Amino acid sequence: MAGEPQGRDRLIQEVAAIYDWIDARCRQEPARAGRCKTCGACCDFAAYDHRLFVTPPELAYLAARLGVQELKTMTTGRCPYQEGMNCTVHEHRFAGCRIFCCDGDPDFQSELSEEALRRLKALCEEFRVPYRYQDLAAALAGFNCGTFQSAWAPCPADREG
Ligand code: SF4
Ligand code: SF4
Repeated sequence: MAGEPQGRDRLIQEVAAIYDWIDARCRQEPARAGRCKTCGACCDFAAYDHRLFVTPPELAYLAARLGVQELKTMTTGRCPYQEGMNCTVHEHRFAGCRIFCCDGDPDFQSELSEEALRRLKALCEEFRVPYRYQDLAAALAGFNCGTFQSAWAPCPADREG
C-alpha cells in the first residue's frame, strides 16, 4: 500500500523520540530519577503490588520493533516479557518502565508521566488511533495489529508533503 511504511515509520520515530526524551530527563536528574538496580522485582506486578499502564502507540512500537503482528498476553501476574528476572525487550520497554523507579522521587515520576502521556495522546490524535491508558494485562489482551492500520496510513502532513 502506497505510503504504508512512511506512516508506520513516522509513528515509530515519534514514539522513539518520546522514549529518548524520558531517558534524557532521567539522566539530567539522576537523584530524582532514582537508581534502578534492574533486579526485575517490579515486573512481577502481583508480587510487587505494582501496576503498569500503557498506551496504543507504545504497543504498536513494541510490535513493530519486534517485527510481530501479535504481542504476548499476560497469563500470570508478571509481565510476559520478563524471563527469569530479566526484561527481554529492555530497549523497547514502555514509558512506565522507563519512568518508574522504586528509588526515585514520586513527584518527578508524576511530572514525567504526565508529559509523556500528553505526547502519546497527541500521537494518537495525529495518527487517528483511539487513545487508551490501560493496565498492561488488558492492553495486551486487546492488542490487535489490525487496529493500527489507520496509523500505518499516511497522515495528513505526509500527504501534503
Ligand atoms: S525499579 Fe526497583 S524494583 Fe524495579 S527493577 Fe529497578 S531496582 Fe528493581
Ligand atoms: S517490558 Fe520489561 S521492564 Fe517493562 S514490565 Fe515488562 S519486563 Fe519489566
